[in-house]
Amino acid sequence: MNLFALQTVVLSSSAIATMLVAVGLSCRYAWWKPPVNWSMPRVLMYHMVSPHRKKARFNKLRVLPERFEEQLAWLQENGFQFVFASQLCDGTKLPGKTVCLTFDDGYADNLLIADPIMEKYGAVGTLYLVEDRSGGWSSKKKSHHEDDELASEPKLTDLQVEQMLQSGRWELGGHTVTHANLPNLDGDEAAREITDSRNRLTEQFGQELKTFAYPFGLLGDREVRLAREAGYSAAVTTEPRIYDAAHDDLMMIPRIKVSGTEGMAAFAIRIRTGQRGLLK
Ligand SMILES: [Zn+2]
Repeated sequence: MNLFALQTVVLSSSAIATMLVAVGLSCRYAWWKPPVNWSMPRVLMYHMVSPHRKKARFNKLRVLPERFEEQLAWLQENGFQFVFASQLCDGTKLPGKTVCLTFDDGYADNLLIADPIMEKYGAVGTLYLVEDRSGGWSSKKKSHHEDDELASEPKLTDLQVEQMLQSGRWELGGHTVTHANLPNLDGDEAAREITDSRNRLTEQFGQELKTFAYPFGLLGDREVRLAREAGYSAAVTTEPRIYDAAHDDLMMIPRIKVSGTEGMAAFAIRIRTGQRGLLK
């Protein structure tokens, strides 16, 4: 091969490589997708706000404290107003750009780490609290899953929950008694998980629970019916999408996933389109 031919091969293969990287990044971030109508509320799903743990499987659920602060600052700078999930279903006239922060399960860091940052930015949050946080709680979707990393994560005590509610920055939502995999239960058990936790938390904390989060995002027609019968006016899922009040069922509100392993660019893209890339 002469030198010219060699140069051509090298150039064209590097051009192809560059193109492949560009295509890969485009699929990963889907930056070309237009923003979903800004008047539609962005409902965000969080779990923990904490440093990552070495070799942990669930670091995606741990949003770093400094990143969480950047996210709230970004939302504030971009004109978003913070609302509770109950305001999506109680007839509140929502401001032009609305964001609703939701936190699943009831991790202690929600108060110890997230709350002071929320106070700084005038944010509020809806806490989907598992009623029994004393050890019966399981993060395992399937019983054959080996580790139960999230079960050993410190949970909010009743006193801490009270403190959060008193601040006015938090409201409670239901998330069953034991973080149950609802579709696996028989009808009576599923009804108890949903109804008992709502009744007991309402009585214990003196605040009526208006919204519910299906554990693991697992639901079918029966779970929707049970949640409605338990007295909930709305429920959130883990379907990664922006909520469209004109077309979506209030008992199946999708949420935007906030991943603990992604940077601000991915966060901004998720807020724009509901998803980070083409598929998730
Ligand atoms: Zn959960």
